[in-house]
Amino acid sequence: MNNPPASPKRPGILFILSAPSGAGKTTLRTMLQRTPDFVYSISCTTRQPRPGEEHGKDYFFLQKEDFDRRVQNGDFLEHATVFNNSYGTLRETVLDSLDRGVDVLLDIDIQGAELVRATTHEKIRAAIADVFLMPASMDVLRQRLLKRGTENSEQLAVRLGKAETEMKARDKYRYNIISGTPEDDFQNFRAIMLAERQLSRRLLSD
Ligand code: 5GP
Repeated sequence: MNNPPASPKRPGILFILSAPSGAGKTTLRTMLQRTPDFVYSISCTTRQPRPGEEHGKDYFFLQKEDFDRRVQNGDFLEHATVFNNSYGTLRETVLDSLDRGVDVLLDIDIQGAELVRATTHEKIRAAIADVFLMPASMDVLRQRLLKRGTENSEQLAVRLGKAETEMKARDKYRYNIISGTPEDDFQNFRAIMLAERQLSRRLLSD
């Protein structure tokens, strides 16, 4: 984990990024992670690591029993099942950063975002700045998934069906970015970060 600067003037902001699969979210997140002024929240998951993925960097890869134990302990700010695997955001890591005035980025699905918005934890709710990255059209999404070539035709149909449902959640997010080039998406997300950091209501009183 990097060591981003803390703001003494405001609590950290909880940036949430969601998108249908194939909309360009991983590319955007990877570009954002090169700017060291926030921490990326590493989720826990029960899915198997993909080639090149590292425990403690991309995810904390857990056995189902470990994951369930953490659910029982109340360790997660939110957790959800996505494509038959469990995913969860560790509450303490997020709270600790926000309290220190460090911004946090969550890459979570629409169910997770909904659960974070519904939190009764006032400090967390006030910190949220949620962003939905959407494909220009379903056709563009289909083309992108086909080009990626990681899904067979059955999986492709599942992902496209899920994407249509996910698109319906876009108006629950404060921001919608219509995906363009990777650089466009990056610049648009950075603009949101800059604006959120200047919100008058975020400034702590002296
Ligand atoms: P992948 O397995 O491709 O890395 O991620 C699949 C989906 O799970 C993505 O939409 C990603 O945003 C979502 N995801 C990753 N971590 C979490 C998490 O901690 N909570 C929730 N709700 N979704 C997550």
